[in-house]
Amino acid sequence: MVTVFDIKRFAVHDGPGIRTTLFLKGCPLRCWWCHNPESQEQEPVTVDIERKVNGRSIPGKKVYGERMEVDQLVEILVKDAHFYEESGGGVTFSGGEPLMQTDGLVLLLEGCKVHGLHTAVDTSGYAKREQFERIVDLTDLFLFDLKNMDPGLHKQYTGVDNGPILSNADFLLEKGATVIFRIPVIPGINTSTEEVSGMIQFLKERADKMAEVHLLPYHRIAENKYRRLQMKQHLADIAEPDERFMRQLKEEFEKTGLEVIIGG
Ligand code: SF4
Repeated sequence: MVTVFDIKRFAVHDGPGIRTTLFLKGCPLRCWWCHNPESQEQEPVTVDIERKVNGRSIPGKKVYGERMEVDQLVEILVKDAHFYEESGGGVTFSGGEPLMQTDGLVLLLEGCKVHGLHTAVDTSGYAKREQFERIVDLTDLFLFDLKNMDPGLHKQYTGVDNGPILSNADFLLEKGATVIFRIPVIPGINTSTEEVSGMIQFLKERADKMAEVHLLPYHRIAENKYRRLQMKQHLADIAEPDERFMRQLKEEFEKTGLEVIIGG
């Protein structure tokens, strides 16, 4: 059994082609900008909500998260196999941090492989080396987050050290895995000259072993979820980066010689 909090069919931003993205619940990080705060706790969470019906507010409940059987999930993932095949797509496991449920993730990846599906794992990189060892040969593509290069800033804004993350990134590259680094662009958090040049340096040193870089602009899309979950929203007042800023940043990152995509 695995705990899932969303299944998104026909996803086009979670790897190549048309994909189904399965969101697994639970994350060891607490990023200040998290778009999916409902993913962080491993267990399902019930919140109070209000639904508008004919202009009236009706109180209700919403549950984030559901325990599901691996076979049942593989059945769902296989449904769109012809779309994956036509578009060069597949299945992406996201979260939360999918490696929080490594046993289930391994079974899901194996299930996908039985059906010949392309697999991607969207990871924070924060897991034990043995967990990555278990999935590396079952995963066709890693979407690997880089958040802060400075260890102190990383700890402050995500709650964990970036040492194991950077070391796991190198492990995957050494193993010959296909890795796309994804950088959430959070104004004032990881956009200083030091942070940007630290990331560029990191990527440059590994450019011959990796695929592309994706820059993901911060969006204020999770405000309602924070309210419902009664969670503190650290970045309530920061503005989203504008197009001009993102274009300039893209040009900076292109100095790595890598293909740089805004969004992903
Ligand atoms: S790693 Fe992703 S899911 Fe986990 S807290 Fe950070 S942004 Fe949220």
